Amino acid sequence: MSQNLYDMLMAECCAKTEIAVETQAGKQTSYSQLASRVDGILGALTACGARPGDHVAAQIPKSIDSIALYLAALKGGLVYIPMNTAYTDSELTYFIGDASPRVLVCDPENQDRLNRKFATDRLTVMTLPAHDRAAPGPRVTQHPTTHRGPDDAAAILYTSGTTGEPKGAIITHGSLTWCTRQLVEEWKFTADDVITHTLPMFHAHGLFLAVNLPLAVGGKILLHDRFDAESCIASFARATVFMGVPTLYKRLLASPRLDAQACARMRLFTSGSAPLSQVDFDAFQGRTGQTILERYGMTEALIICSNPLEGDRIAGSVGYALPGVEVRIAKDGAVCPSGMVGMLEVRGPNLFREYLNKPDKTREEMTGDGFLKTGDLARQDADGRVWIAGRQKELIISGGYNVYPKEIENVLDTFDGVGQSAVIGVPHPDYVEGVIAIVVPKSAETRIDLDELSAFARERLAGYKVPKWFLCQDRLPTTSVGKVIKAKLIEQHRTIFS
Ligand code: ATP
Ligand code: MG
Repeated sequence: MSQNLYDMLMAECCAKTEIAVETQAGKQTSYSQLASRVDGILGALTACGARPGDHVAAQIPKSIDSIALYLAALKGGLVYIPMNTAYTDSELTYFIGDASPRVLVCDPENQDRLNRKFATDRLTVMTLPAHDRAAPGPRVTQHPTTHRGPDDAAAILYTSGTTGEPKGAIITHGSLTWCTRQLVEEWKFTADDVITHTLPMFHAHGLFLAVNLPLAVGGKILLHDRFDAESCIASFARATVFMGVPTLYKRLLASPRLDAQACARMRLFTSGSAPLSQVDFDAFQGRTGQTILERYGMTEALIICSNPLEGDRIAGSVGYALPGVEVRIAKDGAVCPSGMVGMLEVRGPNLFREYLNKPDKTREEMTGDGFLKTGDLARQDADGRVWIAGRQKELIISGGYNVYPKEIENVLDTFDGVGQSAVIGVPHPDYVEGVIAIVVPKSAETRIDLDELSAFARERLAGYKVPKWFLCQDRLPTTSVGKVIKAKLIEQHRTIFS
């Protein structure tokens, strides 16, 4: 039987008149209209020469059509490669060189430029076909779903590039189908669910979770082209689910409109992609009465852990490995006893197939028995609950002691006036690495007394963990979903102790 993800997402609903996607401007598309648009776009892709297995790259803004394009690629057995909409032409040159797409789909306003730059015999630059509203009756040829096996590539997603150059992860129909099914079950998605969608659709979170889940159950997507706290909060009156990243929760909390009444209809708020601060978890609960469900995933493994829908959702913990996913904590080639921090390794049907064009990297990140080394340090309780300690690359070794930035950030975040904090290690003449903290005030008017903050940290942390230097900055360097790029901070501040 074909395991094309398209069938799982659309086959049951494709004739339905229920709304699948509604934009902020009020444009609505039913499931049957979406299915027909998918066929129209697939026709255009095929006309450009795209055949099953070919790569289709896209740099287009969030819209009903960008969802239809993703679905069209799946249906046609093409490999979908969404590109960050912020990429400049020189960045695109790298990704296009790496991904070798057969087709690059872009916005009409960029077509001439990209055509001149990228079009070759092997690469067609195209825009999406116009809607044919004038012609009555059935307008588009219906395409059958292309047969795909579980190991066939469905998409290549580039990792966020938080710790280095983004890597293309080849993700299969099998793992996407498995994850969608598992999360629908885990988070009890039904056709009554309406999701407020504000995430970018070129990362796993915004595409494979926030699009796949509602479609798989015949639910509805309220599509926001970008995150805006006020319109997001306003949409909660008509929604049931919101999937966010920690910075979005911070921005929601900054709005006085966020309260229990605004969220009364909502049944689920999830957070992932980066650690959610305990302060924000508590503040959100205090303001809205809603307990954020934190979960943990990565491009290469889609979803790994989740707090339970029913049961305790604990601040600072990402919950339990999903059923069917194996998680272990390893150090020096051995599995750690519970409570000990080590590298989180994961194995299961959620894993990607390999990195594109990087066989050495794939080999390096996989263990001999098929576990992926996530690069994240974590510990696991005796009952299996997982606590992420931070990325291995961000671990600080100061004077021979391991310092986990997150532990210190958790303390600094509770100091009055601190909106966000980042703790890094920079070269130090005595300690090899010296711990420094950068804090961002809650608002432009807020002043933070750094001496008081230092005293506050000394009262709560062992001496070797207390930052030796504190700085205040207006903002931190972040990725498009608000992950702090610590390598940039280290670069900026590396000479502080020299
Ligand atoms: P790159 O691999 O290119 O450096 P990246 O790791 O940020 O970038 P993604 O695959 O988008 O790219 O992100 C996965 C990472 O995000 C995880 O490995 C983990 O470090 C972090 N992450 C995701 N969810 C959580 C969470 N709930 N708590 C803490 N960290 C999280
Ligand atoms: Mg990564």
